[in-house]
Amino acid sequence: MGFEKTTAESFAICVFCGSRLGHDADWASIASATGHAIAQRQWRLVYGAGRWGLMGTVAQAALESGAHVTGIIPEYLIKIEPVLPGIHHLEIVQTMIERKMRMMTLSDAFLVLPGGIGTLEELFEVWTGLQTHAHDKPVVLVNVKGYYDALLGFIKKATQEGFLTPSQKDRLVVTASVQEALDCFEAFVPRP
Ligand code: AMP
Repeated sequence: MGFEKTTAESFAICVFCGSRLGHDADWASIASATGHAIAQRQWRLVYGAGRWGLMGTVAQAALESGAHVTGIIPEYLIKIEPVLPGIHHLEIVQTMIERKMRMMTLSDAFLVLPGGIGTLEELFEVWTGLQTHAHDKPVVLVNVKGYYDALLGFIKKATQEGFLTPSQKDRLVVTASVQEALDCFEAFVPRP
């Protein structure tokens, strides 16, 4: 698997989050703040290209604040998840697997916000990718408002039962806020 990274370009952060808004209005506020914060740090956004839900909210905010936005989406999904107008670079791929591979190639880091099973699938893809050495890029789960408490409880159980090593568990960085998550990535941003 080749992960050709783009050192000449600015730091690219891939955000995984819900294609729905969820019931709590705070989720959209958090998604919007994430998009603006990515732009303020002069990073690029890579995401699933959709216009709806938290995904679209992150990307719209990033665009409004001047970030470069790349969207990657399988062709068959465009009917179900329409593409956000105005994104700078759109890649249309054939499969979900191809989408995730392109996300892993084009991004320097992965940020996971609240979402559903698609988000969970993407989280596990990049986290297990660290275990199998498919990539070596930071993965941060934002457990804002305790959204992922139950998942983290299960991960603790898997570690206690010997199915997950403590070192693999610790490769998934967990923060309580987006700001803290973005601060974690600063250590990986190349400096001139
Ligand atoms: P969700 O968290 O379910 O709202 O989905 C968030 C994103 O994950 C959407 O862009 C979905 O298209 C994407 N997604 C859903 N299923 C998968 C999958 N099997 N692999 C990768 N992405 C997926």
